[in-house]
Amino acid sequence: MQNKLNIYNTLSRKKELFEPMNPPFVGMYVCGPTVYGDAHLGHARPAIAFDLVFRYLQHIGYKVRYVRNITDVGHLENDADEGEDKIAKKARLEQLEPMEVVQYYTDRFHTNMNQLNVLSPSIEPRASGHIIEQIEMVKKILDAGYAYETEGSVYFDVVKYNQSHNYGVLSGRVLEDLITTTRELEGQEEKQNPADFALWKKAQPEHIMRWPSPWSIGFPGWHLECSVMGTKYLGEQFDIHGGGMDLLFPHHESEIAQSVAANGKQPVKYWMHNNMITLNGKKMGKSLGNAISLEDFFTGENKLLQQPYSPMTIRFFILQAHYRSTLDFSNEALQSAEKGLKKLLAAGHTLDKLVASDKSTSNIKELRDKCYEAMNDDFNSPVLISHLFEGVRIINSIKDKKETISAEDLEILKKIFHDFVFDILGLRDEETGGGNELADDLMKTILEIRQQARVKKDFATSDKIRDELAKINIIIKDTKEGSEWSIEE
Ligand code: ZN
Repeated sequence: MQNKLNIYNTLSRKKELFEPMNPPFVGMYVCGPTVYGDAHLGHARPAIAFDLVFRYLQHIGYKVRYVRNITDVGHLENDADEGEDKIAKKARLEQLEPMEVVQYYTDRFHTNMNQLNVLSPSIEPRASGHIIEQIEMVKKILDAGYAYETEGSVYFDVVKYNQSHNYGVLSGRVLEDLITTTRELEGQEEKQNPADFALWKKAQPEHIMRWPSPWSIGFPGWHLECSVMGTKYLGEQFDIHGGGMDLLFPHHESEIAQSVAANGKQPVKYWMHNNMITLNGKKMGKSLGNAISLEDFFTGENKLLQQPYSPMTIRFFILQAHYRSTLDFSNEALQSAEKGLKKLLAAGHTLDKLVASDKSTSNIKELRDKCYEAMNDDFNSPVLISHLFEGVRIINSIKDKKETISAEDLEILKKIFHDFVFDILGLRDEETGGGNELADDLMKTILEIRQQARVKKDFATSDKIRDELAKINIIIKDTKEGSEWSIEE
């Protein structure tokens, strides 16, 4: 295990050596989507950022339990304690059951994640499946004296909590400033203080998602689900909690307060936040961010897009920026990502055909070390990619006979590509069967059978294999080095 991974911890505001509480086990929780609409770039970025973390931790030997929730209740408009539930509103507008909305968009989210080659989390719990646990946590917070009940709703008492703890430990916000700047919204009169947040809300008559509780028929506050599901599946204290920077306040700040109030412990050792996507240097507003769905990117059917962009182009584009940097969206940036990815994958194919000599002209072991150093430095994917392009340069020089490589180094270089390009960055070759291992293995077997037929001069069989594959758009090309296959668009 490479035990020198450094992670930037939002809580301490510095990079720290990663030391999980119970190695080799790692608990990781990431806030998932609120499923009331199609996924867009703002969903792809955290999913891919933490997929990279998940993949790398496993690569260096950790056993990771990765929990990513589905928010299907309690997330009100404007992320505040008033207004309609996002899912219930969609259900009302489309005359559907809220759970139909949830199922429909969860399925579409999963499809998009598969297209982006984002691995499934170990557990994907839904907020609505944990109402009993949420009620239990509200009781614990009430018993500890950090919450109060008004008119059937329960609010977290931020002022009381802040007397003995720091509400602002994560975000750096100061409570006095929050109190003076928080707008007085409708319904706020139930709160003792505008900075307080809902743990349980009494349902208004028109509110269709509702459950019985000791206080009223109602629904849980949005922040509560993550404290509850994190605790349930990873324990009162776990290693990593991630999410987008837009969730840092109030969502994650409130999660800490709830968990500390209920369990008396800091819930998370390392807090990680991915940065936002900008458009021509400006923060991509919610309306514009939602204006281009991932589906639009893949089909190109959106007037802001000059062409379709494949899922792997989107994935590579996101990985070309460090997760804590802003990522500027433009057609030009995506087109250059598309070109770069093509070049990287083409070098991977060239690599398979390289022939070893007795000595190497480049230091391949050093290249491998640099790749690990980049990932150990807070998952620095852009630096990793720059080292992989150094590998591309070496591969092409060897092909052009300007450089040579030893047999041992050739195996190392192949392993660098296999490990970092495919296993860790999670890229796949969309042109040769999408990197689907089963398809690759099947085709290898079929091509071997065909090769044996050719050796025996059984051309009837070898031609039949070629023609039958052509019928399903798989094209065989015979070269000096052997047969290659590709899928025709
Ligand atoms: Zn959350």
